[in-house]
Amino acid sequence: MDFDLSEEQGMLRDMAFKFARKELAPLAAECDAQEKYPPELVRKAAEVGLVGAWIPEEYGGAGVGIFGEALVTEQLARVDMGNCTNIITASFGCEAIWLYGTEEQKGRYLPPVCRGERVSAGAFTEPDAGTDVAGYKTRAQKDEGDYVLNGSKMFITNGTVCDFLVVQAITHPDEGRHARFSQIIVPADAPGVTRTKITGKMGIRASDTAEVSFEDVRVPRENLLGQEGRGFHQLMHFFDTTRPFVAAQALGLGEACLDAAVRYAGERTAFGRPIGGFQLTQAKLTEMAVRIEALRGLVYRAAWSIDAGRPDYNLAAMAKYFGGQAAVFCANAAVEIHGGYGYIDEYPVQKFYRDAKILEIYEGTKEAEILTIGGGLMRP
Ligand SMILES: Cc1cc2nc3c(=O)[nH]c(=O)nc-3n(C[C@H](O)[C@H](O)[C@H](O)COP(=O)(O)OP(=O)(O)OC[C@H]3O[C@@H](n4cnc5c(N)ncnc54)[C@H](O)[C@@H]3O)c2cc1C
Repeated sequence: MDFDLSEEQGMLRDMAFKFARKELAPLAAECDAQEKYPPELVRKAAEVGLVGAWIPEEYGGAGVGIFGEALVTEQLARVDMGNCTNIITASFGCEAIWLYGTEEQKGRYLPPVCRGERVSAGAFTEPDAGTDVAGYKTRAQKDEGDYVLNGSKMFITNGTVCDFLVVQAITHPDEGRHARFSQIIVPADAPGVTRTKITGKMGIRASDTAEVSFEDVRVPRENLLGQEGRGFHQLMHFFDTTRPFVAAQALGLGEACLDAAVRYAGERTAFGRPIGGFQLTQAKLTEMAVRIEALRGLVYRAAWSIDAGRPDYNLAAMAKYFGGQAAVFCANAAVEIHGGYGYIDEYPVQKFYRDAKILEIYEGTKEAEILTIGGGLMRP
């Protein structure tokens, strides 16, 4: 047993943090205020191997595995959650191509994403169903050699900036709820695809979020990902793989909150002494630090287990479940330690507070994670 990072992993972590300080930090406030997605940043990240870093080298990635991607994600989130999201989700959906795609699909879709030339999206949630994954209604009807898609997807990250989407759609409407779905790759510029940006988000405002609708969108049958009728199970397995990334975002954001809170607690004085000297302040800092270190253990182990070929999906769900709450706790405590200054945009903790909440919502709400973990515990 060895808890140390390897030399390469340490270098990757340091490089990602340096990149974030140099490229993300100067843009963070502006992108947040203006809800701006900066495409050039994703291209810069790709140039240094940070886009789709988890993708194996044979398909254009840096081949750092799920653990390496978690390290990168943590470092980017320490600096700016919004553009961290842009960089790590430039390959969102590609996990399904990696898990279920043919060699032809992997060779075609993954390398351009790693080069920063194309951006992907995963289109699962619908306006009337999110947590109820089997309740999605988008249809993909077979018509000769094609699928014809109709339906609507909601809250799609990269929706208006992506080049292709992995779409969850019903191909077998007469089958049971878990056997009717398939996953289909849809070019974003296909006739009949309409993409509408959603504005006014609470946090991660640099991230592009959109409603995407399909009206008689025709794609060839070769765009099927994996097996027809296996889409539900493929999606569950997909989330098992991506959850450690969201948990790693929580870890990075938690660390940013603790750093900011410790700094401020050392500078601000009240009653003639630094507020960091008060035991009530130290109690908050302690609770933050303990949660962060507990989360680090969950994230690193869950990511490592996938790379080791022994994925522990309950652990991935626990990391995501605990991570979202840890990030929200840390952001709340950081704002409190800043007092009134925590409530204005002179300090970044108000942004951390707004950015943190999404970690309890996307890729499975915390309630959904309870269902996953609880169900796993009760399974014989
Ligand atoms: C910024 C942002 C980015 C996103 N990016 C993407 C993306 O790229 N692709 C994508 O497909 N989706 C994306 N989503 C959607 C996200 O995954 C969903 O919003 C989330 O899964 C919740 O679904 P919902 O919004 O429909 O809420 P609902 O499923 O309607 O849930 C509402 C509430 O009810 C609770 N609930 C539901 N069912 C149960 C139950 N059985 N037991 C107890 N409580 C329950 C939920 O936990 C929640 O608290 C994104 C969302 C946001 C806000």
